[in-house]
Amino acid sequence: MSKIYIPESAMAIVAHPDDIEFSCVGTLARWAKGGARTSYVLCTSGEVGISAEGMTKEKATKIREAEQQKAAEIAGAEEVIFLREPDGLLQPTLELRKKLVREIRRFRPEVVITGDPTIIWTGNEYINHPDHRAAAAAALDATFPAAGQPNLFEELEDEGYSAFKPRKVFVTTWTDGDIIMSIDESIDTKIKALRAHVSQMKDWDPEPRIREWASSRAKRVEATYAETFRVITLVKDEDWEKTRGEVMAKKT
Ligand SMILES: [Zn+2]
Repeated sequence: MSKIYIPESAMAIVAHPDDIEFSCVGTLARWAKGGARTSYVLCTSGEVGISAEGMTKEKATKIREAEQQKAAEIAGAEEVIFLREPDGLLQPTLELRKKLVREIRRFRPEVVITGDPTIIWTGNEYINHPDHRAAAAAALDATFPAAGQPNLFEELEDEGYSAFKPRKVFVTTWTDGDIIMSIDESIDTKIKALRAHVSQMKDWDPEPRIREWASSRAKRVEATYAETFRVITLVKDEDWEKTRGEVMAKKT
């Protein structure tokens, strides 16, 4: 087993059920297996994401939350939090920022993982979902500087949640990144966790596509499959800097 950076804890903040599985569960599963506490925060429950006769938002919420819970268990997550903001209408409001600050101050993750709010499209075939951009913007704004400022959202102190500044932010990237994380040991878990989202996969077998995407991201490292991230270090970590070469696959 190759050495990787394993934080003590990590919190992934995304818009919908299945976003974590598509973007970063290979990394989260490896971390969880290595002893990290991992938390999933879902801004919405994806309740408009099932088109079927007789489907309602209430029914879809139940189905998709159960699917996400199962996917989280497959990857060894400690908890799944549903904020139940409106699917399809997510906005990076101050109210959402405060909710996310509350979760960060409660769980105190060493690493926050979220998306890239600047991605609007990729190639000529896909426009990024506005909820993805909104969740990512709210997550970044909650992580820094809000979560670490004692006199901002100071009323959360009354709930027992004092200011906390995460050490690093891992932003999932689609085409490139500073850090390429090998997921050779967790690619099967990633596929299994994706399959838990039955209402989204339907007859589609995610395996060939996921292997293809993950292998295209591993091109410049000694790995078959990878996930890529832009990593922002908010708290200096001498030890981490010293071991950076061995804990993470480097670009060649
Ligand atoms: Zn999504």
